[in-house]
Amino acid sequence: MLQHPHDISPTIFRAYDIRGVVGETLNTDVIYAIGQAFGSEALDQGETSVVVARDGRLSGPALSKALINGLLSTGIHVINIGRVPTPVLYFATHVLGTTSGIMLTGSHNPVDHNGVKMVIKGRAIYGDDILMLYQRIQERKFCIGQGLLTHEEMLTRYEERILSDVQLKKKLTVVMDCGNGVAGVIAPQLIKHLGADVHELFCEVDGNFPNHHPDPSQEENLSDLIQMVIRKKADLGLAFDGDGDRLGVVTAAGDVIWPDRQLILFALDILKTNPNAKVIYDVKSTRYLAEVVHKNGGQAMMCKTGHSIVKAKIKEEQAAIGGEMSGHIFFNDRWYGFDDAIYTAARLLEIIANDGRDVASIFADIPNSCSTPELKISMEDEEKFAFMERLIASADFGEDAILNTMDGLRVDFSYGWGLVRCSNTTPYLIVRFEADDESGLAMIKAKFRKHLLELDSRLKLPF
Ligand SMILES: [Zn+2]
Repeated sequence: MLQHPHDISPTIFRAYDIRGVVGETLNTDVIYAIGQAFGSEALDQGETSVVVARDGRLSGPALSKALINGLLSTGIHVINIGRVPTPVLYFATHVLGTTSGIMLTGSHNPVDHNGVKMVIKGRAIYGDDILMLYQRIQERKFCIGQGLLTHEEMLTRYEERILSDVQLKKKLTVVMDCGNGVAGVIAPQLIKHLGADVHELFCEVDGNFPNHHPDPSQEENLSDLIQMVIRKKADLGLAFDGDGDRLGVVTAAGDVIWPDRQLILFALDILKTNPNAKVIYDVKSTRYLAEVVHKNGGQAMMCKTGHSIVKAKIKEEQAAIGGEMSGHIFFNDRWYGFDDAIYTAARLLEIIANDGRDVASIFADIPNSCSTPELKISMEDEEKFAFMERLIASADFGEDAILNTMDGLRVDFSYGWGLVRCSNTTPYLIVRFEADDESGLAMIKAKFRKHLLELDSRLKLPF
């Protein structure tokens, strides 16, 4: 147990989740206190039980035990579903008779990191709700009781649910890279049972991540997958992040299909049967998304970046699907509206198998602009928000520019856009640019370069 509430660092309570370094800001005492706070909050909101799961990290077993004990000490019952991907935890909160769950995961972060993603009463909690848990710990505002611990096997049920929903009209050959993350416990077999031939890359769960970082949003982590897709002459490649809620996609020729273009494909597929569907996308996504969705009768709505925020917006708008440039895709059509890379992979295979054309031809119909990936500018956490405010205050991008400050600063021009925003989880500003052609892209980059360097000439810009 924590000797003193001050033994817990406020820095681990982040925008969308709790995340710390094991042995420094996160240990069994800290996670026990988080269990106490979460259990008390769930009880106060009228829940009587909570689902708990963990990813494949080395610190998982010990931290999970402490988390469960913290929860039980409040009197809430715990259903432990063991080592599963994050989407399986979310799935459990839809089918096990409780709508609250807590996932012990460090997602794609380095080996010694860990943390939790939380759902209370069907709502992914973020922002002030996460700070409220910190407040509870400071005030020791905990319920006292003795909950019961039960175990439940969820993987079979999850797989059966997907197999009953998705059918492939023809056989596909897939290379799958789980990056030694926890998706490996279910994704390869599930995709095989759908009827695809699967070549596995790094699908054994290993918390040391000995091959590459389990983060498909970074192109360098896709190079093994690209090579194997080409060597095996596969139809496509799929990559999962460390906890299975983000998907990377590679064509037979080895080209990366970034998540915003994946989202366009899914939106078009949904619009065929659900003509007025709403589609939620984050500020980092391509502007072609809104264009294509509107042209096909749907409504596209931009929102701030953050998996919890997109999930909340989907619920609020009763949107059919949502997605983020980082790779989170949320199907609320035939599925539950949470981010699930394994279900997303199944839906992608369904579309490809039904279409008959190869993956590259299917995506050739979806507009592809000149764009950069997400670029990072190093900036201390203490500095970045004030810098962002100064940038917004001084921004003058000319008369044809449309400024959007919903999340950082996105400036849309007739030929493209640029974005600078604060990462909520890392000490960086995140930048992205998109334009119709290379010269437009260069112009937009130059405008942003000028404004950023005017505010701080020492900045090291990656563009
Ligand atoms: Zn993840």
